[in-house]
Amino acid sequence: MSSSIPESIISFYEPEAMIRKKVMSGITGGKMTQEEQKRLGGEPDKCSLYLLNLFHMVSDDAELAEIRRKCVSGEIMCGHCKKETAERVVAFLKDFKEKMDAAAEKIEV
Ligand code: SF4
Repeated sequence: MSSSIPESIISFYEPEAMIRKKVMSGITGGKMTQEEQKRLGGEPDKCSLYLLNLFHMVSDDAELAEIRRKCVSGEIMCGHCKKETAERVVAFLKDFKEKMDAAAEKIEV
């Protein structure tokens, strides 16, 4: 996900289906095959999804460490990890929109 690639930017008012599509198409640090990933593990430091979780979606260090552990051990596959990340982004933006709407109602025109 890069600001120089518009298709990879998730805006605050993006439709939910588009959020999921963009997260699911993110570049990962996963291996070419599931067998390889199970055997060698993924590379979270090269993964745009891991960085999204690290900097924006997961504030709990223990939860983040668990994502990293599952990745490097090959316990989790990228498809599943992407779906979990997409759920976090959708939940985050839903909460954000609700707070924005509540704030907008308090603003006098
Ligand atoms: S398992 Fe998750 S953190 Fe690891 S490379 Fe795949 S998408 Fe990235």
